[in-house]
Amino acid sequence: YLVVSLGIAGLSELLRRERRTAEDMAFVDPLTGLPNRRHLEVVLEREFAAAERGHPLCVVLFDLDHFKRVNDKHGHAAGDVALEAFAKILQLNSRKENLVARRGGEEFVAVLRDADADTAVVFAQRVLDRMREWPLPWGHETVSAGVAEYRSGMGSYELLLATADRALYEAKERGRDVVCVAPRYGEGGLHTEPLVAAASLVIDADAPHAPVPVASRVYIVDDDAAIRSVIKRLLAEEECELWDTGDPVEALRRQRES
Ligand code: GH3
Ligand code: MG
Ligand code: MG
Repeated sequence: YLVVSLGIAGLSELLRRERRTAEDMAFVDPLTGLPNRRHLEVVLEREFAAAERGHPLCVVLFDLDHFKRVNDKHGHAAGDVALEAFAKILQLNSRKENLVARRGGEEFVAVLRDADADTAVVFAQRVLDRMREWPLPWGHETVSAGVAEYRSGMGSYELLLATADRALYEAKERGRDVVCVAPRYGEGGLHTEPLVAAASLVIDADAPHAPVPVASRVYIVDDDAAIRSVIKRLLAEEECELWDTGDPVEALRRQRES
């Protein structure tokens, strides 16, 4: 009886450890050891809720420059070395209360709690400087960054990320290896506000004060996939068909054909 009991206890401990390892793996990027996209989303959800209760919050999006060229010139394994180096730089330069994660591919995110945009820029610039100096077997590489600060009314962390995405796009446009800050939400410059307003209009369509016909199909057209996904999320509960594209001509063609 004792042997059987001990056997069962040992087995259940083993299973518990196995499950723990599987759970850990589900939240960790195997190449860099950084938290992965899934982990990032859990933390962003939590930090966004804290921001809505009054805590400052910034996100920084990093994207390695001309990374396809690195792979093409030096091979995929060399690309992986650059990714690992960048992950190391991020870890070395972040405080432990802040999350740094690999969002996917050659894109990384830092979630900075209690930080304003100026603090986030200083952090991002330091990371860019370290990357530029970091000796890789074939030389040096650079990274660009987009900074966005939480503003009330954003509604979801996806919009915060989409805002940082826009700033990152700007950094690439300016020639890369630079940090760009998104204009403050609500102060113009970004084109997300009218889109969100339009989405809210459909959501409120059955309210007595808004005599807007309920849409049966909504076309979401924007060249930024992140913005499209925000709008889709806002409209997810509506009883209308959602269709999204980055190509306005394609949207018009569809609309004419339907
Ligand atoms: P930009 O400066 O505009 O960001 O250009 P880019 O070349 O970095 O951007 P692009 O999106 O064209 O290329 C990203 C490349 O990243 C393409 C893809 O093969 C590579 N990549 C994505 N994940 C990995 C990975 O895990 N390892 C390696 N080695 N390459 C990866
Ligand atoms: Mg990229
Ligand atoms: Mg890139």
